[in-house]
Amino acid sequence: MHTDPSLSTSQWNGEILLWQARFRRGFAAAVGFAALIFKATGLLSAESILSPLIGSVNALIVGAAAVAAYLIFCEIVTRHVQRTGQAGTRLLHSVLVADLVLIFVILGAVTPPVQYSRGLLLAVFLVQYARLYFGMRAAVVSLVASTAGYGVLVFLATNSGRLEHPEEEFWNLAIFLIGALMLGLLQGQVTGRLDRVLALFDRAQEGDFSTPYDDSLDRMPDPITLVGRAYNRMRVRLEAMVLTDPLSGCFNRRGFDQLCAREASRAIRGKHAMAMLAIDVDHFKLINDEFGHLTGDEVLREMGARLRETARAGDVVARIGGEEFEVLAPDTSAEGAQILADRLQAAFRKRPFQSLGGTRIIGISIGIASAVAESDQIVGQLIARADEALYVAKRNGRDRSQMWEPGLRAFDGALPGRRSIEINALRQ
Ligand code: GH3
Ligand code: MG
Ligand code: MG
Repeated sequence: MHTDPSLSTSQWNGEILLWQARFRRGFAAAVGFAALIFKATGLLSAESILSPLIGSVNALIVGAAAVAAYLIFCEIVTRHVQRTGQAGTRLLHSVLVADLVLIFVILGAVTPPVQYSRGLLLAVFLVQYARLYFGMRAAVVSLVASTAGYGVLVFLATNSGRLEHPEEEFWNLAIFLIGALMLGLLQGQVTGRLDRVLALFDRAQEGDFSTPYDDSLDRMPDPITLVGRAYNRMRVRLEAMVLTDPLSGCFNRRGFDQLCAREASRAIRGKHAMAMLAIDVDHFKLINDEFGHLTGDEVLREMGARLRETARAGDVVARIGGEEFEVLAPDTSAEGAQILADRLQAAFRKRPFQSLGGTRIIGISIGIASAVAESDQIVGQLIARADEALYVAKRNGRDRSQMWEPGLRAFDGALPGRRSIEINALRQ
């Protein structure tokens, strides 16, 4: 089944036909020629349908010619696929039909009519392989070709009076069709579940680990369930690695973007307010200068922990730049956001930092913006506004919070420009 987004269907079909070519050639040569040799040496003694019509030697020649023609056809197809790197639908279907034509010609050449169900036995496998590797349409082509091949042989045998009870053959055909259908349904279920796993991997590739494999849907657990459970174990660890900033333990930019998008769509649906707090440490350069960069990093670690424990459980705390943090507070009005900002600031004012010997207090400035979510622009808008408000808080003396409002200016009358957030600094 083709589900790889990096390959087109015909490229994927080409890739499969190439590795299958070895088996096709091997199988045709081994089984085809072996049957003909057995027949020629008398090991297969019963008379085929072709023998009385064209003579037993000619029947063998027809069989040998069919195998040779099939091998040449395989060679041409293989070279074509190697050259172009793909196999279109028509080419693919021709190969599937050729497989069945060969089987039924060999049957006609060496097998007595009462044993034609052997052809159906082989056809069951071919239909299943077609379903597995090339999908439903290819399976239907194989099924139709099998039915037609079998029908032609039975018709010839009946017409020449070699089948006493042709109606028995139609029972064989019916059983074949039911069996192929049941296996096809089973395989459809398997490929459907594999598609589910693939979709999870596709999302993981984009850094989205939000959906686990739901093994409660697997009524009869099997190896695919095990793959899904293994994914779930990996998912938790990868999610932490990909979406978290290792220094502060907060979300990184990617995690922040993802959670913002999720919260925004939830807020838009319910027309709820959302708040954004842009936080920048005051005079952090001085901390680095005085204590060194490594201690500065320790401070950032402590800071991340303090922000997370002070915010509510549903708030998203992210480090989006050097010493710049952002807090997204879902379901929060301007008043609620102001309370959160005051609480955060109090947490910094009242407790000195362990990493600075337990004596130094560090101040933070906070820009606040809140709005009712009405469009998916909400997150960008809130970030820009909180940013502007932060600029004003800095201009007005630091260690304070500032709520965004239209026409916002600093005490000195300066209009807020865009802060240069080192947004990409944390992108690994
Ligand atoms: P203020 O914000 O109050 O205007 O002053 P500031 O000194 O904090 O200035 P700014 O916000 O521009 O600070 C950026 C400084 O933060 C620059 C750099 O020394 C420090 N910094 C940025 N990222 C890191 C980091 O990952 N580790 C450490 N130790 N320091 C960092
Ligand atoms: Mg800064
Ligand atoms: Mg700063």
